[in-house]
Amino acid sequence: MNKIRFKTEIWSGDNALNALETINQQHIFIVTDPFMVESGKIESITAKLTDQNELKIFSDIVPDPPINKIISGMTALNEFNATMVIAVGGGSAIDAAKAMKFFAQRVFKKQETITFIAVPTTSGTGSEVTNFSVLTDAEAGVKYPLVTDDILPQVALLDANLVKTAPQNITADTGMDVLTHCLEAYVSINATDFSDSFAEKAFQLVFENIEKVSRNGDDLSARQKMHHASCLAGMAFNLANLGLNHGIAHAAGAKFHIPHGRLNTILLPQIIKYNANLENDLNSTAAQKYSHLAKLIGLSASNPRIGIRSLTNAICQLRKKLNMPDSFHNYGLTKETFNHYKNDIAQAALRDGTTKSNPRKPNKEDVLSILDA
Ligand code: NAD
Repeated sequence: MNKIRFKTEIWSGDNALNALETINQQHIFIVTDPFMVESGKIESITAKLTDQNELKIFSDIVPDPPINKIISGMTALNEFNATMVIAVGGGSAIDAAKAMKFFAQRVFKKQETITFIAVPTTSGTGSEVTNFSVLTDAEAGVKYPLVTDDILPQVALLDANLVKTAPQNITADTGMDVLTHCLEAYVSINATDFSDSFAEKAFQLVFENIEKVSRNGDDLSARQKMHHASCLAGMAFNLANLGLNHGIAHAAGAKFHIPHGRLNTILLPQIIKYNANLENDLNSTAAQKYSHLAKLIGLSASNPRIGIRSLTNAICQLRKKLNMPDSFHNYGLTKETFNHYKNDIAQAALRDGTTKSNPRKPNKEDVLSILDA
C-alpha cells in the first residue's frame, strides 16, 4: 500500500513572490542568512509584505546550522509572538527555521498554528517540500536529521531570480546535491512509481541545465529549471527517503565542514558502484534502475554493466567540468585528519536515518572502503 500526500502549495516562476502580497495582519518572523541582508536581497521579500504586518528579521544563520542558533532563534520567535515564519535562503536557513518553529511550539507550548513559507535561494536541498531538517551539534561533531511532517512548509515560492547571485562553486555544490537526491530516492528500498516519476524528471533537468547555470549564473531559464529540479528531487526523497551517500555525507560533514553538495559528489560514483553490486548480482534492482537513468539521458546502457559505467563516467566528467574535487584529499584534507576521523564517520553513517533505505545494507568495512576509494 502506498500513501501519497502533498502538503506544500508551490508557486513557481517570475511572479511567485506575489503570493506574499495577500498576507495581512501577521507577525512575520523572517529567518535568513547574513548574505541576504547585506546584499539587500531580502528586500525583494519585505517589499512584497504590506505594512499591515509586523516584521522581525533573524539573519544569523550559518551553513550547517548549529543548535545554539536554533535556540536563540526559537526564543526570539516566541518573544515576537510570531504567527508566520518565512525562511529565505539555502537549505541551512530553511532547515533552521523549520526547527525553530517546531521547538518553539513544543518548548513554549504555543497553541496557535504558525504558517510556514519557504523561499529557497539555492537550487539544492529541496528543503521547501521536505519533512527533513538537518541540524549540527558542532561540539560533538554530529549532524542530526529531524524528520517529521510537522515541519513541512505550507507554501514554497520558487523564483529563480533569487538564485542568480549564487557563485559558481555554490551553484555546482547545490546542483550536484540535487543529482544525489534523485539517485538515492530512485534506488531507495522505499521507491515507488510516484517517487520515481519525480526523480527521473529531476535527474533529466539537472543533466540538461547544470552546466548552463555553472557557466552563466544569469541564465534565468536554466536557473528556473534547476530550481524545479531541486524541488522535484525533494518531493522524490520526501516520499522515498535517501541512502548511504547522505548517511556518509551527514557524518563527514559534521567533522570536516565541507559543503554538503560537494561532499555528496565526492562519494557519488563509489556509492553507485557499491549499490549496483555487479560482482555479486548482474541484475540487481539498483543496477537496472541506474542503467535506466543512463538511458534517459542518452547514454549507452545495453546492459547494466555498460549502463553503470556510462553513468559513473558521465558523473565524473560533469564533476570535472564543474571544477569539483574527486576525493577528500583533492579537497585539501590531509591524510592524517582523514584517517583520524574515518572510523567515527563510518560508525555515524551506519546510524544515520537516511542509510536505512539504502538498497544494499552496508557494514563498517563497506563504508571504510567507500571512504578510502
Ligand atoms: P546553505 O544554505 O548552507 O548556503 C551555503 C552558502 O550559500 C551560504 O554562505 C549562503 O549565504 C550562500 N547563499 C545562499 N543563497 C545564495 C544566493 N542566492 N546568492 C549567493 N549566496 C547564497 O547551502 P545549501 O546547500 O542550500 O544547504 C545545505 C544545508 O542543507 C546543509 O546543512 C544540509 O545538511 C542541509 N540539507 C537539508 C535537506 C532537507 O531536506 N532539509 C536536504 C539536503 C541537505
